[in-house]
Amino acid sequence: MTSELKSPPAQSVAETPRSYHVRTFGCQMNEHDSERLAGLLEAQGLVPAQDVENADVVVFNTCCIRENADNRLYGNLGQLRALKQLRPGMQIAVGGCLAQKDREKVLERAPWVDAVFGTHNVGHAAELLERARTDGPQVEILESAPASAEEFASALPVRRELPFAAWVTIQVGCDNHCAFCIVPAVRGPEISRPFAEIVAEVRELAARGTVEVTLLGQNVNSYGRDLALQARSSEDWRAHSYTTGAEWAAAAAPRARPLFADLLRAVARVEGIDRVRFTSPHPKDLRPETIEAMASEKAVCPHLHLPLQSGSDRVLALMRRGYTAKRYLERLAAARAAVEDLAVTTDIIVGFPGETEQDFTRTLEVAAEAEYDSAYTFIFSPRPGTEAAARTEDYVPAEIIAERFERLRQVVERSALRRHEARVGRTEEMLVEGQAKKGGPGVYSGRTRQNKLVHVEATGLRSGMVVEVLVEYGAPHFLKGKFVRVLAQPRHRNLIPVAAS
Ligand code: SF4
Repeated sequence: MTSELKSPPAQSVAETPRSYHVRTFGCQMNEHDSERLAGLLEAQGLVPAQDVENADVVVFNTCCIRENADNRLYGNLGQLRALKQLRPGMQIAVGGCLAQKDREKVLERAPWVDAVFGTHNVGHAAELLERARTDGPQVEILESAPASAEEFASALPVRRELPFAAWVTIQVGCDNHCAFCIVPAVRGPEISRPFAEIVAEVRELAARGTVEVTLLGQNVNSYGRDLALQARSSEDWRAHSYTTGAEWAAAAAPRARPLFADLLRAVARVEGIDRVRFTSPHPKDLRPETIEAMASEKAVCPHLHLPLQSGSDRVLALMRRGYTAKRYLERLAAARAAVEDLAVTTDIIVGFPGETEQDFTRTLEVAAEAEYDSAYTFIFSPRPGTEAAARTEDYVPAEIIAERFERLRQVVERSALRRHEARVGRTEEMLVEGQAKKGGPGVYSGRTRQNKLVHVEATGLRSGMVVEVLVEYGAPHFLKGKFVRVLAQPRHRNLIPVAAS
């Protein structure tokens, strides 16, 4: 693990440093926020603790996307209450989506919590904890992200989980209104990060030896909409190349806005970056320019995560997704035709309120036609405050959902197995993540360019190495291969063994 600290430790060296533990719930966006939280706490002189029990400061970075998020959080907080009584100096903070939603309610239900901060207040977490030591419990929830690009949370210190791969936030919030989703309510409207700032962060990462970056946003394909508006509202809008990218600002007849494709190309051309991934594009906004950039830029990995959610046009309309199954499949076909050996993954919800057997059959048909490499399949669970949650009269009975879920699992696993078995006998480039969790010390895990998990028996591999493997076996969720040769040594400076997850 690397530590990128931008301010000196606040504690004196004579003191035993306080320790912290961040527990993350939810998506990559939350995991990246946790990296920032860890970076901030380390900048204050705290050191990481292995677990909650041994930490002086415990931070729960919460998510309200998953089912029963409230119960899990308050259950965890209940367990910590006794621990805190035994260790009076201990502090507890709650941040993330659930904190944004519940606000003061967190302190009402768990008054032993020291700080509550929202999704736009990550940068103040360490400060709030410090203030709570003298002034008592602190709550800070901003309604939306800071308007000024300079205040974007990207400037925070980061403690990266993997030294050779990094998430890079390009956008926060979302302007869509999918009926099942709480994100727009808790993360606010879409705000794009300035173009040049993203490229600068990627250059800095490359200089430290990071070889893979994943661009993160709720709807990456709408990147830049707000930037163009900002730039055009100024008289001297061409001077906004920092915000919108030099190419867009300098064009004789500029397009309506800088595109995600422009950013993808700029990042892919940063020297030292060999793999660029992104998540997630909304199918309605997947533009031909993005596909072209994927096809032509060598560093952009041939993997597209394109959330389907449902194969029924009726359900897609109820979900307010803005596309039909036909349109989705056309865009997928265009991407497959353009990008060689493209792996495609998706998200599908089973049992959306009002989903009939006929609707679900359409989902099975579309999933079979899409031939996914893998799919995250979810059972619909109502998120309080969403349109879908209010449609209680249309809820699908649990036993019907369970049966449909199993049928969908079989369809997806069939295509995943077929696609993985088709790779047997081929050589693949694998970026080594670390020793495999199972299989003993001589088994390593890593990812191919298509983001496939591979296990390989070898000796002396190190995290961050790029190796060639011969695929010998394909299962629905992973490949097994034979080590062939080392293609590249790790480039990052600190070599600390990590366990692959
Ligand atoms: Fe939620 Fe839809 Fe926005 Fe994705 S695109 S974050 S599902 S509202």
